[in-house]
Amino acid sequence: MSHRGKILTAMISVGVLGVIGLCGATGWLFWRQSIESETAYSGGLAAQLGERTGRIMLGIRDMLAGFDRLAEKPCSPVHLEVLKRASVSRPYVRGIGYWHADQRLCGIGFLPNAGIRPRHADRIYPNGVIAWWPSPQTQVGGVQMFLMRYGDYDVAIDPNLLLDAGLPRHREAALWVEGLRLATIPTGAQLPAPDKLPLGVMLDRIHGLVLSHFAENSILPIDVVAQEPMIDFWTRHASILLLGTILGLLLAVGWIDVILRLSQRELNPATQLRRAIRHGRICVQYQPVVELQTRRCVGAEALARWQREDGEWISPAVFIPLAERAGLIRDITLAVMKIVIGDLRRIFDEAGPVSINLNLSRDDLLDDRTGLELAACLQRSDLPTAAIKLEITERSLVNSDTARILIHDLRDRGHDIAIDDFGTGYSSLSYLQSFELDLLKIDKTFVDAIETGAATSQVIVHVIEMAKSLRLKLVAEGVETLAQVAWLARHGVDYGQGYLFSRPLPLCDFIAYHQANGHGRNA
Ligand code: C2E
Ligand code: CA
Ligand code: CA
Repeated sequence: MSHRGKILTAMISVGVLGVIGLCGATGWLFWRQSIESETAYSGGLAAQLGERTGRIMLGIRDMLAGFDRLAEKPCSPVHLEVLKRASVSRPYVRGIGYWHADQRLCGIGFLPNAGIRPRHADRIYPNGVIAWWPSPQTQVGGVQMFLMRYGDYDVAIDPNLLLDAGLPRHREAALWVEGLRLATIPTGAQLPAPDKLPLGVMLDRIHGLVLSHFAENSILPIDVVAQEPMIDFWTRHASILLLGTILGLLLAVGWIDVILRLSQRELNPATQLRRAIRHGRICVQYQPVVELQTRRCVGAEALARWQREDGEWISPAVFIPLAERAGLIRDITLAVMKIVIGDLRRIFDEAGPVSINLNLSRDDLLDDRTGLELAACLQRSDLPTAAIKLEITERSLVNSDTARILIHDLRDRGHDIAIDDFGTGYSSLSYLQSFELDLLKIDKTFVDAIETGAATSQVIVHVIEMAKSLRLKLVAEGVETLAQVAWLARHGVDYGQGYLFSRPLPLCDFIAYHQANGHGRNA
């Protein structure tokens, strides 16, 4: 897969995963939020009903305990009045009886005088409470009563009224005591048994219900189960879920935007080039420079190469202009310079002295960072300054006084300066004269035109004359034929560079070439 393809695939995968993750996380968060507030609400309902029932039980027990301490004469009108007052404020209390052992001596409420007398108590609790569950034996006036006795008093409770907290019809609840369903609202409502439900809130998606379960054990172990249609849940949480959806969408859009920007940046060649420079993926090849009369190799031009991570080689004709536009050219110059100075030591040791041409760009001439770095590198490597020649394109020289000063300094230090691609710019002879130069490289287009009869074929003659008048040595670029060599040599051109002699070579091949073709004397 191509590099671009890999980046796109990675970005799309990260993008899709991110969107799923973000939407999922937001959805989950808001869902949890809804469930939590539902727990507070529905759980609250079950809890509210349960706690209310618990409080009622406690109240009844306290009421019964309070009766035991009454000073009034039992069964006297005052005594019965106290009992009546206690029942009036408790609508679920249908009757109160005063007992002596198993004899009901008196009481109030809608109960037979002898009281309700089921055979055996269903529960006797350590706290002194005795309970009879609602059953046909406890039925009075069509209602199966729940009986509680504490001390000498008992109370008949209408269990249905224990739960009656004014619930709307579509919300149902059931009260359980010790696994026995005591009451439901509305009457006859079918709710799952508490032992089948965990505590808290849960969603029964199959039946479209929100269920809640509350349990408490103060006087009696009670459970309250409540349920309502799920639509209530959605209605209650529509706003929060809508907010979650909007937030999720916004986050997803933001994420996609980030991914798009990132992929644009990643796919941007300047970003890739910057990374290549940082990771040392810029390398150098050497194209031999040959003395035309003798065919002796006198040096080489260092040419930058960029191999991308996917193995593709990018032409310098592409990445050098890109680096110039992106402000990266000075980093490339420095990278090439360091490689060349490192390689030069080996070339000197294995193939003898040589000079290597470095290409400088306009940015390199705008301040002296490149020059200072070059001096420092050479000093560290203990190489002669003359081992590095500098090529500056004709275009880079335009309108640059800083360049003029820098060139002066570089020459002062011992570097030869070559004007590169000569003939492709617009510089006049007088303009060139204002720079201190040593070499002039005739561009390949003029070499190509030699003896072709084309108009440019005459230009090269003038260029040669001009160079000679400026006492510049001449290098012909892009020499491909023996005829060109013969012509150039005949016209006094000193050096040549081109595929006829050699293509740009990796270091080892250049060393081998120089060993075979150089004879120790430098250009
Ligand atoms: P240039 O400085 O004019 O380099 C010579 C170019 O001509 C090289 O292309 C070389 O491979 C090619 N060449 C040499 N002999 C022949 C030949 O006989 N026939 C043909 N067809 N081509 C030949 P390359 O390596 O692709 O470099 C292209 C340009 O990229 C260079 O032109 C130079 O302007 C720039 N460049 C390369 N390396 C660097 C560098 O390190 N720094 C800077 N600033 N520019 C560089
Ligand atoms: Ca060059
Ligand atoms: Ca050139």
